[in-house]
This record gives sequence, structure tokens and C-alpha cells, in this order.
Amino acid sequence: MALQDKTSLLSLPLEALPGEGYRARQLAGWLYQKGARQWDEMTDLPKALRSEWAERFRISEVAEVMPYPSQDGSVKYLYTLLDGQKTEAVYMPYLNRKTICISSMVGCPAGCTFCATGRMGFGRNLTAAEILDQILWAAHHQGHAPREIRNVVLMGMGEPLLNVENVFAAIERMLHPQGLAMSPRRITLSTVGIPRGIYRLAESGLGVRLALSLHAPDDETRQQIIPTAHRYRIGEIMEAVRHYYAQTGRRVTLEYTLLRGVNDHDWQARALAGLFKGLSVHMNLIPWNPWEGAPHQGTPKAQILKFAATLEQQGIPTSVRWSRGRDVGAACGQLALKQPA
Ligand code: SF4
Repeated sequence: MALQDKTSLLSLPLEALPGEGYRARQLAGWLYQKGARQWDEMTDLPKALRSEWAERFRISEVAEVMPYPSQDGSVKYLYTLLDGQKTEAVYMPYLNRKTICISSMVGCPAGCTFCATGRMGFGRNLTAAEILDQILWAAHHQGHAPREIRNVVLMGMGEPLLNVENVFAAIERMLHPQGLAMSPRRITLSTVGIPRGIYRLAESGLGVRLALSLHAPDDETRQQIIPTAHRYRIGEIMEAVRHYYAQTGRRVTLEYTLLRGVNDHDWQARALAGLFKGLSVHMNLIPWNPWEGAPHQGTPKAQILKFAATLEQQGIPTSVRWSRGRDVGAACGQLALKQPA
């Protein structure tokens, strides 16, 4: 049977893995704890059983993995999926805090003008298995057991809340004690602001962190840089965020990419602070990362720091997130399935 026609093991909930209780737990251990990428690594499973399962099931969703290491230690992974489509993830080995930024789609339908993925347009949603396999392959390539990667951010290609079923299924397997056994506090889902998806996340009980990429405090500016933003006004998004906060009590992270002369004015910093008054938030300002053919310029450092200071003065805790992996096209907003020069 061709690989694509076999049942994907990563697509199955942990409770639905093949085998009796003990064998299924062994298989889960090989997949999610030891990170086996081949049947013959699973040495404590009887050979006949491995052969039988290998006929019916597949372990991986990826046909090829190309790593692109950055000088700063991060690594961009370009994955070719079984149908030939491609997607990317970025591994960042922060001290004691191995982190991976993964994708939820091939391309993205949101079309943000400052993002190279948005320029590509939408390919397709990734399956839950394809979302998980980005973590498993990166861990394997780094020589780590999968559970050594303790932080996951869904902030790569795509809008996770437009692929809710698959993203939530993948997160369930990240959280499951027999899966990646991650803490929900170590998983961050980043959205450009899809109100119905934020409500679903609030009700899901998954308990993961929400990051909101607002990128402008007013609808007019926002619609200029996020062409699909006219579907959801800031007022609606804020209502959903307040609901999420009321349901979960979780602090919301804000992501804001600074674009010179577009969304980096002092009045916008004050308006932004006004929007989030009374909510527990943390603002990450992202200096824009350039890519070829982009219609934007980055905000100069002095204005970035001034924007940050204004937010702080208005009571919004703020950090500036200088991106990693710029030299290999792995920084925020640069993912475009291109091989670095
Ligand atoms: S910034 Fe995010 S939502 Fe916007 S186009 Fe890029 S990947 Fe999509």
C-alpha cells in the first residue's frame, strides 16, 4: 500500500492507537517519548506485529526535511509533505527553554501586507498529524527526545483559528500524558483575530495561551495592512478577547509588528493602551523583518523604543522582541518556503 493510503498514526487520538492496552502504550511511547521515525527502531514490539502495522499505518507525514541553520542558533526547517506541498517551522534553542514555532497551514489566507507568507496566498490546511510532525522531526534532527522541546508557538505559516479542528486535535496530543505531555502554559496560539475561533478556544478547555496579533489600534489602519480585517472589526475582536479572559483568567499576549509611518505613531501607542485598559496583557513589539519585494519599511530603533515607553507609561507591560533567524528567512513574517541564498 502506498504511504499516503496508510492510516496516519499521528492522526489518531492516543486512545485510538492500534494494539491492546499495553501494546498501544508501547507504541505511544515510541512515537511521542522516544521519537521513533522507523518501525525497526521499536525493538520491544514483536517483529511480526511491527510488520503487520507497517502494512497498515504510517509514522510520518513528511517526505523530506531540509534544515537551514541560522548564525544565531535557530534552525528553519522546510518540510515537504507527502502530497508535495511544503511548510516550515523554526526551532529556537533558548537557554533551558527549547522552543519551536510551527505552522498550521501551507501559506495563509489572511494576506497581511507585511508578511511573506501572506504574499504566497493560501495552499491548504495542515492536518493534525502534519502539525505534530513538525515538532517530532525537529526534535529528531536536533538529537532530542520530543518531550525535550517544552515550548510550542503556533505562530508560523497560517492562521490557526481558521483551521480549528486540526489545530485543536494536534494540541490535544501535545497535552496528553501519553502524548507530548506538555503544560498548556507552554503552548501559545497566535491569531490575527478571528472572534469565533477565540470563543471556541475559550470554551475548549485546552487552557493554552492566546496571543493576539492586532497590528493597529484602529480599523482603518488595520484594514490597510490586513486585507481580510474588514470581516472582523476591532470591537468584535476585543469582545471575544474579554470573553477569553473571563473564561480562562489567562493573561493575553499581544503581538504588534511595527511598520514605519503606518502603525508606529505615538497616538497609536496611546490608542492601543486605551483598548487594553483593565485587561491582563503583555505587549510584544516586533520590529518588522524585511523580505524581498515587501511594500514596507521597518520602524527606526529610536521610535520603537519611544513606542514601547509610551505603552509602558500607559500601564501596558511591553517587551521588544528582536527576532531570530533573519539570515535564513526564519524570522517573524519571513516564512515563504524559500531556501536561503
Ligand atoms: S502574519 Fe500571520 S495571519 Fe498574517 S499573513 Fe502572515 S501568517 Fe497569515
